[in-house]
Amino acid sequence: MSDGSIPDVQVCISDAYDSGNVEFVSSERVDGVWTVHVRIKPDVYTALEKISHMQYFSFRATVNNISKPTKIVYVIDNASKASYPAAWTGTTVCYNTTDPEDSEAWFRNSTTRYVDGTLTWTHLHVYNCSSYFSYFPPFTYARHLKLVGHLQLAAAKIPHANVESLGQTLDGREIECVTIGTGDKICWIIHRQHPGETMAEHYAEGLLYRLFRLDDVEDPIVEQALQRFRFYVVPCMCPDGGVRGHLRTNGVGANLNREWATKGDYQAPTLERSPEVYHVLHKMDETGVDLFLDVHGDEELPYNFISGAEQTPAWSKRLESLHGAFVASYHRANSDMQQEIGYPPPESREEAQKYMNVATNQVSTRFDCLGMTLEMPFKDCESNVDPDRGWSAARSRALGASVLGPLLYVYPYLRDETEFWTTLPPEDAYVEPHDDYQGFKPLTKRLYSDVRATSSITS
Ligand SMILES: [Zn+2]
Repeated sequence: MSDGSIPDVQVCISDAYDSGNVEFVSSERVDGVWTVHVRIKPDVYTALEKISHMQYFSFRATVNNISKPTKIVYVIDNASKASYPAAWTGTTVCYNTTDPEDSEAWFRNSTTRYVDGTLTWTHLHVYNCSSYFSYFPPFTYARHLKLVGHLQLAAAKIPHANVESLGQTLDGREIECVTIGTGDKICWIIHRQHPGETMAEHYAEGLLYRLFRLDDVEDPIVEQALQRFRFYVVPCMCPDGGVRGHLRTNGVGANLNREWATKGDYQAPTLERSPEVYHVLHKMDETGVDLFLDVHGDEELPYNFISGAEQTPAWSKRLESLHGAFVASYHRANSDMQQEIGYPPPESREEAQKYMNVATNQVSTRFDCLGMTLEMPFKDCESNVDPDRGWSAARSRALGASVLGPLLYVYPYLRDETEFWTTLPPEDAYVEPHDDYQGFKPLTKRLYSDVRATSSITS
């Protein structure tokens, strides 16, 4: 905890809670307005990428000695040093003045600006209390344990459901895998390999609540899904990084979405550095995989989108057609999903070959299956804007719940070796995504959720 006491108004900054990340720098009065400076703490150094990632932040500001509503300016001094500084433009900080565990109580601060390398916003403190500021509404480990507890209770009454630990993280947390369903196709859905992408676990919560019918509603879609699929769902791949408030790595600096295969002399996955991936991949080898979905959040693009395994060794007309049909069906099921904007796929097989350590590429190739990375925005969702809340925990949950429709839609074709695509409607055709949209000028080319052209990754 840091104490930013100044005369008259007292502002205390703290990140000493589950998923907190920021350190207090200074506070001062500027033109009569209290201004508080903080810095984001970097993740543990990542040996493979040779970088200390950072961008996620979450902190508590406790104000005392105000006798009337008072504006305070907050400044993140080192915003320009973040992993994706271009992403700050268009970002609006999330705030909560009541209960940080209540995802419905988070709103967007529309005064947020990226100016002179700093991220700054003005918050009106109405009375003496704590306000929370975060890059996206947190999904704490306490909430994770609560979710697992609900699922365990529900699973006790469902013969084909179970919550098992595939192993432990380096901090000793369980790597939980939720299984349910009696179908003949194996569907793996993993979430939050990058711990700062908290929307991914909100998505998992929405999916699992629906699959286990925890909302207690009649749902024929769930019945069909459980008859056709056997689900393996990992709600949180990186709890150690989540508790630390990391953006991209676990407790020892491993970016889990680069740990799915050995690259050069960098061995992966290993029990010493990435047991999360090691245990999940081992279990996948045991079960096989017919469909794989890896759920993330993207700092830059203000859209929901799905990235595929284009140009990998397994990519074929069959996988391209499955991918197209899945994304088109998802768009029909939930208008927050769209097909056109996303990461441009790699231009060659050689380019894709450099990234076989990415989960989607590795799993799709290893099992010759439809493999996809789903990305949600940190910003507002430009295809369906909401200035008050932006892209939110509730909409992440809804997007997770609505994935069952597209899963059922592609189910009949997952292992179909005929030219099934000739029977699908034209709107199901694969759409090659691009990232060139009005008002957005990416500074560097992106590939696979996060690889910048300037990245020091070598093939
Ligand atoms: Zn990610």
